[in-house]
Amino acid sequence: MLVSATEMLKKAKEGHYAVGHFNINNLEWTKAILQTAQELNSPVILGVSEGAGKYMTGFATVAAMVKAMDKSLGITVPVALHLDHGSFEGCYKCIEAGFTSVMFDGSHYDIEENVAKTKELVSVAHHLGLSIEAEVGGIGGEEDGVVSTGECADPEECKRVADLGVDMLAAGIGNIHGKYPANWEGLRFDVLDNIQAKTGAMPLVLHGGTGIPDDMIAKAISLGVSKINVNTECQLVFADATRGYIEAGKDQEGKGFDPRKLLAPGFEAIKAKTKEKMELFGSVGKA
Ligand SMILES: [Zn+2]
Repeated sequence: MLVSATEMLKKAKEGHYAVGHFNINNLEWTKAILQTAQELNSPVILGVSEGAGKYMTGFATVAAMVKAMDKSLGITVPVALHLDHGSFEGCYKCIEAGFTSVMFDGSHYDIEENVAKTKELVSVAHHLGLSIEAEVGGIGGEEDGVVSTGECADPEECKRVADLGVDMLAAGIGNIHGKYPANWEGLRFDVLDNIQAKTGAMPLVLHGGTGIPDDMIAKAISLGVSKINVNTECQLVFADATRGYIEAGKDQEGKGFDPRKLLAPGFEAIKAKTKEKMELFGSVGKA
């Protein structure tokens, strides 16, 4: 059931668990994540980056596919279709295309411009029933060409943006996109604690979930994180499973080259990874 992310995140914050945001790239990804959410009776957020939207021939295609699949699979758990790290123009495109949630990433603007643009989009999104995520501080690493050095968010700036009425707030706390380097110093729980103290009931978002140890995830949830983004991990298990299939020569046996067979191990790997994350985040049975 396609809905905005507002209610599911409010419930998650109150219930001290987190909803998983899983990025989608194609039909297999979408189907694997939707089916797993339904099997586990878990709310879920399907994230679409601007790059993935372009790859799938546009946000209208993505929205049409997700809506139709939600219906044809008989999905009854709450599903939000969410733009990930959207530009100002990208947010308008997704609102028009029928997304139920958007993230405006204005973290590369100075705080005044970030606030002004976020404020305008909050008003448009809420008028049309969508939820909206904003970002303060940088999340390090690179995601679909968006490069950031990673800078811890200023709790006062977080409060300013939270007060604009956003539904969820991403704040840099030492997290990065992609794989973490060996010398990574871990999440800055002192910063997270200060942000939560300033923003109260606001659901906080942890980007760059890949490679953060499970105990840090649990601690982040206890300090107010209610949405956790997972992208790279699904890509890694999909690639591994597909390579295993080909290296075992299975594509050469019978009709093993049929794309439905070739992509099946990767599909199952995404399902297993999604299940593992939903269990870790505590969202199972919370639909
Ligand atoms: Zn992110």
